[in-house]
Amino acid sequence: MKISTKIPSSHLDSTSLTVLRDALRILEKGFSGLPPSYENTDDSELSDILAQVAERMKDNFPYFHPLYAGQMLKPPHPIARLAYMLALWINPNNHALDGGRASSAMEKEAVADIAKMIGWETHLGHLTGGGTVANLEALWVAGSLHAGKTITASEQAHYTHSRISGVLGLRFRSVPCDTRGRMDLDALRTLLRRETVGTVVATIGTTATGAVDPLADLLNLQREHGFRIHADAAYGGYFRLSGSLAPETRRHVEKLSSADSVVIDPHKHGLQPYGCGCVLFRDPAVGRLYKHDSPYTYFSSNDLHLGEISLECSRPGAAAVALWATQRLFPLVPDGAFSRSLDKGRRAALRLHELISKDGRWIPGPMPELDIVVWTPDAPSASEASTRSRAIFQEAAQNGLHLALADLPLPLLHLPASMKRDAEHITCLRSVLMKPEHADWVDRIWEILNTSAKKVLS
Ligand SMILES: *Cc1c(COP(=O)(O)O)cnc(C)c1O
Repeated sequence: MKISTKIPSSHLDSTSLTVLRDALRILEKGFSGLPPSYENTDDSELSDILAQVAERMKDNFPYFHPLYAGQMLKPPHPIARLAYMLALWINPNNHALDGGRASSAMEKEAVADIAKMIGWETHLGHLTGGGTVANLEALWVAGSLHAGKTITASEQAHYTHSRISGVLGLRFRSVPCDTRGRMDLDALRTLLRRETVGTVVATIGTTATGAVDPLADLLNLQREHGFRIHADAAYGGYFRLSGSLAPETRRHVEKLSSADSVVIDPHKHGLQPYGCGCVLFRDPAVGRLYKHDSPYTYFSSNDLHLGEISLECSRPGAAAVALWATQRLFPLVPDGAFSRSLDKGRRAALRLHELISKDGRWIPGPMPELDIVVWTPDAPSASEASTRSRAIFQEAAQNGLHLALADLPLPLLHLPASMKRDAEHITCLRSVLMKPEHADWVDRIWEILNTSAKKVLS
């Protein structure tokens, strides 16, 4: 099974809608004993409004296309889209078994498969609205177990960790990074001498550059200091399956199994529509912290209701159904179709980084650990490099190539000695090459990038 087909001449697949219709008929048979209740809606009115919606939705960047190579956006696989839509006719709520028996079971199975991917036979976990809420739950548990102690994450960690710490009333300190954008463990050691750190957040795939914090080495420090480790693998978690990581990166990603909690976003690399994050705890006993009684909802069964181990109450069962279906089509195994699709994006990133490094007009960022590339045009000064990046970003979009921008500290870039350091950060060009098709589109991306740069710099 291929992860995605070539970009068809019509860009948006509609043939799979017949598959949906067939499945809907099967679903309907499950309720055939009921007295009729369906009333026809006025389809002409729907069709008018939906046409307006279609018109309005044209006002978007082409996120589904390989020439959209900017932010972390990957289209949901048709199986996820179809399963999600199919579930909407039931609209299950995975808060309680009363609200969605089948979809709750599917959520438990899908999450157990993610736990297995990390290397856990037992776990406590569930889906969330996204990585932010998933990290919130992990830090809430961390703060409950290490009350009064500091939370730390690297300077390149997602901003959500310092913000969530604020929400939870926990002290937060950020740790400087090395020149590859990874947490600097010497700097962490200094902090550990000064403060009682309760939890260290290791980012497995930073949002700006895809850097992987040295989790394996962090575990040695943990033995000395006894802090908790939370792995924010919202972006990079699925690379646990990849066979194409550099040995050093692989060494740390493999240690996800030793973290106390892990966050992975199926709506980032896992082919899901938005609204699908996942938090997992290695020790199922943390479930006691979630303990509460719901006076409204937990009646139909003594089995675990997902709302009993989740901070969110109502949650879309459809998201669980979509994830379950996707993982049937693409099991989370090394060397499967899914893991090979991750490798393709990585190959694209390495190729683009190589092209940039060999070309005197550009200054590359760190060698990609995953599938994200950052770079800046050469310029007499840091501030001028930022100005040029922004202009090239605009011009490339005019030419159909959608990139992103990222403000990076100077040490992350191999700047020539001659460049004036008149700012602490450079606004860099950034490309997240997370679609498997990107492997075949790098040369086209490179071509448009250079045409755009020539126009701007002339
Ligand atoms: C995307 C991301 C988040 C935030 O997750 P959302 O799903 O956007 O809420 C947190 N951490 C990392 C490393 C991320 O890449």
